[in-house]
Amino acid sequence: MKNAIRFIVLFVIMGMTNSLQAQNNIMCLTANIPIPASFDTVPAAALADDYYLWDNGKVLIVKFMNGSIPLQEKTKKIARQWEQAANIRFEFVTTGNSHIRIEFNKEGFMQSTIGTLAATCPQDKPTAFIDTSAFNNQELMQGMVLHLFGHVLGLQDEVYVPKNGNNWNAQVLNNYASTIKLSNATAQEVIQEKYNINHANWLKYDGQSIMASPIVKRLLVNSYPVRWNSNISTKDKALIGLWYPKKAVHYDNAAKPSINFTGLKMAKSDFKKGISFFPVFDFVSRGNGVVSFLLVLVDKEGRPIQTYNPYYNVLNQTGTFIRPHFVGYSVSAINKNNLQDMELFIPSFAIEGIRKEDGLFAIFKVFYQNFGEGVSGWVYVSKPYEIK
Ligand SMILES: [Zn+2]
Repeated sequence: MKNAIRFIVLFVIMGMTNSLQAQNNIMCLTANIPIPASFDTVPAAALADDYYLWDNGKVLIVKFMNGSIPLQEKTKKIARQWEQAANIRFEFVTTGNSHIRIEFNKEGFMQSTIGTLAATCPQDKPTAFIDTSAFNNQELMQGMVLHLFGHVLGLQDEVYVPKNGNNWNAQVLNNYASTIKLSNATAQEVIQEKYNINHANWLKYDGQSIMASPIVKRLLVNSYPVRWNSNISTKDKALIGLWYPKKAVHYDNAAKPSINFTGLKMAKSDFKKGISFFPVFDFVSRGNGVVSFLLVLVDKEGRPIQTYNPYYNVLNQTGTFIRPHFVGYSVSAINKNNLQDMELFIPSFAIEGIRKEDGLFAIFKVFYQNFGEGVSGWVYVSKPYEIK
């Protein structure tokens, strides 16, 4: 009897250890979709294309490249949870052509193409990889499989970076990255690029999101708790339901979004090598146009800081912008309590040549475009905020 109890206790501890190890050792190395280098107000087809969403109602053919039948069956069952929230269906196959190709491995990471970018992979190559070493833990397996299929549907990683940036343990990061084989970039580049600035699929960071993306703990000198979640969050469901609606949604296409802006917070960081700007606002969008959130620089006279650099360029003015993925919703208190939501970042090199005596100020702007109605214009322009 005693032995049996001892055995059970040992078994439970082993189970826990596996789960914790998995929390600590597997990362998602899906690169975020890069923000276009420069902003233009001319409506172009390419602008709408950065959404990379499948057609609503699409049947996605998903092929398993390997894996046992039980592993494939469990994976299918988990992935189908997305079908409850989105008007998308998965058809799983093991032969023939497919939209999505999944490889199971033990490489220590997971990675997927985002949405329709999967079409850029040749048919004999996987579009998604997933490490199965944590799959003996039911919850972790569910969390990771749902996360991977979130990328398949077009979601990006939900990333929160402390305002001064991540303090990487360079040696450990280097060793970790050298064990990971990626096709184009190095793992170190992907990791550092991805975890340099905040990214939220909604305007606001959702720590409960299935897309929350933990960093392997030992890679950071000061780590902070982001865990693999195991369920699709309420916000995930709402967002994916807007992208792939089950019922016809009527939008007033001409409706301009509205914004209640209350301030611009900033942080200079040596780790990030630049300045982060965190606009504080509430946002309401009733339509499904394209909204861009911009940050541009001016001098003390209000003159634009000109640039002809292809990067950090907003109509030849030094600045940056983001165009988050969404259609018609409202979100409040962005960056109000914590600086973990929308982040606009200007690297030090972009402001190197500016003379101190001219002063440096930042302006936050919101630009709206609706291709269907041919409507566009500025929704909001803030006062200049001095950068000290
Ligand atoms: Zn991911």
